[in-house]
This record gives sequence, C-alpha cells and structure tokens, in this order.
Amino acid sequence: MKNIIIIHYAEIALKGENRRNFEKKLVENIKLGLKNLSCEKISRISGRILIYPKDNAEIKKFKTALNYVFGISHFSFGWEISADLEEIKITLAEMLKKRIAGNSSISLCGDYFEQCRNAQDGNFIKKKIVTFRITARRAEKNFPKTSEEINREIGEYVLEKLKVKSEKLKVKLKNPDINCFIEIVEGKALIYFEKIKGQGGLPVGTSGKVLSLISSGFDSPVAAWRLMKRGARVDFIHFHSYPRTGKASINNVKNLIKILNKYQFNSTLYLAPLLDIQREIFSKCEERLRIILYRRFMFRIAEALAWKIGAGALVTGESLGQVASQTLENIGVANNAVSIPIFRPFIGADKIEIIDEAKKIGTYEFSSQPYEDCCSLFTPRHPATKARLGQVEFEESKLDSEKLIKEAIEKMEKVEFKN
Ligand code: ATP
Ligand code: MG
Repeated sequence: MKNIIIIHYAEIALKGENRRNFEKKLVENIKLGLKNLSCEKISRISGRILIYPKDNAEIKKFKTALNYVFGISHFSFGWEISADLEEIKITLAEMLKKRIAGNSSISLCGDYFEQCRNAQDGNFIKKKIVTFRITARRAEKNFPKTSEEINREIGEYVLEKLKVKSEKLKVKLKNPDINCFIEIVEGKALIYFEKIKGQGGLPVGTSGKVLSLISSGFDSPVAAWRLMKRGARVDFIHFHSYPRTGKASINNVKNLIKILNKYQFNSTLYLAPLLDIQREIFSKCEERLRIILYRRFMFRIAEALAWKIGAGALVTGESLGQVASQTLENIGVANNAVSIPIFRPFIGADKIEIIDEAKKIGTYEFSSQPYEDCCSLFTPRHPATKARLGQVEFEESKLDSEKLIKEAIEKMEKVEFKN
C-alpha cells in the first residue's frame, strides 16, 4: 500500500491538444508548487495526477501548497493498492475497523493516516462512524465488475466483517458518516475518504500572457489574480513618481506581488517612472484633465511594454463609477489611447466584493497600508468626470508624447520574483 495524493481537474471542454497542454502545465505547476516538499514522484494517469509523498511528509503543508495551484478541481489524501477486489475489500474493512474502534494510532497506515485526518475537515474527522457508503468509479470499462457491483460487493463485505464491532453499522447513501471513495484506474485502486476543494480555474501558462497595471490599492492585485486563475501568466507594471513621492507604493506593490507570486511561481515587475510626464502635464495642460492624461500615458507605456514582452492584453482593477477617472466617458477616452485589449474583471463589481476577495487571497493586508502614489500627485481640485476626446487630444498636442513615452520606457526597472 502506498500513500498518495490524488488530484482531480475539471475536464470539461478539454480535447486533443488543449488537454495535453493543460495536463502538462498542471503537472509542471504542481511540481513548482511542491518544490520544497519531499515527494517520491508525481505522475499523470488517465484524468488524474498522483503525488507520492515521502513517508515522513507533512500532509498539512501539501494541502496548503496545492491550494495555490490553479486548475485543480479537488484533491484527496489516500492510498494506492492494486486493482484487486479481494485486496480492496480487506484493506477497506481494516481501515474502517480501526476508525470504528475510535483508535487513531493506526498501524496499518501509520502516521500518514493520522496526518490526513488532521489536514481534512468534514466526514473524515468524525469520531463515531455508524453509517457509511462505498462510492466506486472505474476509469476503464474492462474491469470485470460495474461500479454498482463493486459498491454492493464491498459494502456487503464490510458489513459482514464489522458486524461484531458495531451492530448498528449500516449503509446510508445520503450524508453517511464516512464516504469510502474507490477509483479503479490503470490497474490501481485508489482509496480515499474526503474530497478537498481546489482553486479551480486553469493552470497558469495555458492562456498566454497579460500585463497587469498594479497599484497598491485593493482592486488591481485582485484583478491580476482573476486573470491568473483563468490560466494567464501575469507580468506587472507599476507607475511611480519617485523621488517626488516616497517609496511606499513601490514597496507595497512588491509585497503584493510576493503574495500573488505564490499562485504563478515566477513573476516580473516593471517599475516605470511617471514623474517627468506628470510635470509636463502639470505645467502645460488644463488642470481638470490631468488624471485622464496620466491614465492615457500609463496605457501607452504599458501597451508598448506589452508588445515587447509578448503580452496580449492589459489588466486593470477599474470598476464603473468608483472614482472620477472611472466614469463611462473617462474610461472611453483613456481606452482610446491604445489598441491593445484592456481587461477589467471588476468593471461590474462593488468595492466590498473586491475587498472580500482580497481577504481570501491574502492581499488585503498590504493593500490596506497607507501609500502616496503617482495618482495623488498634482491632483486637480475638480477633475473632469466627462472628458471629451477632442479636448484631451488638444491638451496632448502641447506635449512631445513620443519622446516622453520613449524616455519612460528607457528608465524602466525590472524586478524578478522567484518562488
Ligand atoms: P486600485 O485599488 O486597483 O488602486 P482604484 O480604485 O484606486 O484601484 P484608480 O487609482 O483610479 O482606482 O486606478 C484604476 C486602475 O488603474 C487600477 O486598478 C490599476 O489597474 C491602475 N493603476 C492606478 N494607479 C496605478 C499605478 N500607480 N501603477 C499602475 N497601475 C495603476
Ligand atoms: Mg488606486
């Protein structure tokens, strides 16, 4: 009997080349996510990925690490034996016997079993087992029995064997105290008692690359996370007005990326100076259009970088009507500066919803830190809420945009994050 972790992924709409890509990336990402944990091996079998942790493995750490891997629909801690009905019956009855006896130090599976119990919630940690069910599934139809037959045969055997221990023991299909899952696949039988929900989504790297415009606020880090969840690799660009402002926003952004990096294992941040552009706008352009002008420059610089690094879209944390720069008119005028698609996963979200998500993924704390960033520099007293494109273009004609953008790109710094 071997200790294993069984990974399941959603297979819907995965066919041919797409599926191979998905599986390959998922295995690659799991390996990166588990880099610091000891495993015998990680292998792929039809529709599942199996991890063989070392005997002394710390199961709780595996649970935490797998929570950062997108593409997993659920996973389980369990055991692998051979796909032999007699062996399955005996093993399962033995495991349940110890559980019914309430004896947690189980010699059969030893420390691993105990660790699994501690790492899981729900049925598996219930102390008293009176009802159970067998849920068998065969991946190959050439196994001599159907799933129904396996359920019945093993269920009867377990009842018969354990009757003496517990007279009350019975099968219950809905909400049993313990659900015994058996999967028969490629000559193996995989046994487990609990399904742990994964992050879902697609493995990072299967949907190309995007460039996130990240500030140290709440919205943009979570927006970037949403794109990672859909399989995009996310690079980051942050605009700063250093040394006119402090380094707080830069440091906050670095801390935020360290958290987001846990989900994609390697990240790149570009720090782009906006101060010279802001000074030009401050001295030459109409005050109420400053913010929208800043934003058009941000988009242009980000677009130029995106083409260079092979990113197919920009991502922002904008939400309709949240602030003056996010009115329909202003978003339209800002958008007009570039031709690259701009993804705004939160355009229809309330702040409170975004904050709830920030708490879940772990960015909340750093986004709550005070910071002074480029957007708060030279802010107009009455920013335009309904900018008109013609007007904005007229103001821009007073600037040497091409030169300003070129200089900002040349001065950009690159920071790498490793897992
Ligand atoms: P956030 O919470 O993401 O900062 P916000 O509600 O504060 O958003 P704005 O400050 O108007 O809204 O910014 C809108 C979007 O523009 C941000 O979500 C982010 O994608 C981008 N952005 C703002 N400031 C910067 C910056 N300094 N560097 C890079 N991108 C930025
Ligand atoms: Mg902001």
